[in-house]
Amino acid sequence: MGGNFYLCIMQNIQHLKEEFVKTIHFLHAQGWAPATSSNYSFRENGEVNFYISESGIDKGEFAVENFLYVTPDGKPIDDERRPSAETGLHSSIYQLYPEAHCILHTHTVLNTIISQFFLQQKALFLADYEILKGFSGVKTHEVNIKIPIFENTQDIPALAKEVEVYAENEQMWAFLIAGHGMYTWGSTIAEAKRHVEVVEFLLECEYRKLLLRR
Ligand SMILES: [Zn+2]
Repeated sequence: MGGNFYLCIMQNIQHLKEEFVKTIHFLHAQGWAPATSSNYSFRENGEVNFYISESGIDKGEFAVENFLYVTPDGKPIDDERRPSAETGLHSSIYQLYPEAHCILHTHTVLNTIISQFFLQQKALFLADYEILKGFSGVKTHEVNIKIPIFENTQDIPALAKEVEVYAENEQMWAFLIAGHGMYTWGSTIAEAKRHVEVVEFLLECEYRKLLLRR
């Protein structure tokens, strides 16, 4: 009985990893994870440890073996390999949002430049777009959604602290790091992927509107 239960859990993890690899290949195919950049993680229901992408892997060739199992504070469990340098941000997001089971971080041309362009106002403000309903819990286009922008730094614990302080007072679906990339999450892999698509679509809209105004 115990053995069967364990086998069942292992099959579930394998299934999740396979589903996640497909999503990672999709993100890479969009050009949203160039030059081994970007990192991704997921955790199972009721688990505090999580799986995160190994550092330095070409995301077009990412495979199920490239996930590392880490503790809530990002330490690999029985593994010599290096998790993503930004694992600390994943840890913070999981602590802030108990419902989050998947975190996706992308490096795209648009999230890199739009985050720099609007850094001074510390956020991107989005309203009256139908696709905002793609964010979990949003039911109408008549909303004002704020995507915060943080300054880039190599000091991940300091950045994680900034994100935590922001999240204490504001609702958040995603955040941008200036000149660097975007983080979003969801209760499932599919929801997190949908959030990436919503943000990237809206960044494209904002970018093109800037061009129209010229
Ligand atoms: Zn990054």
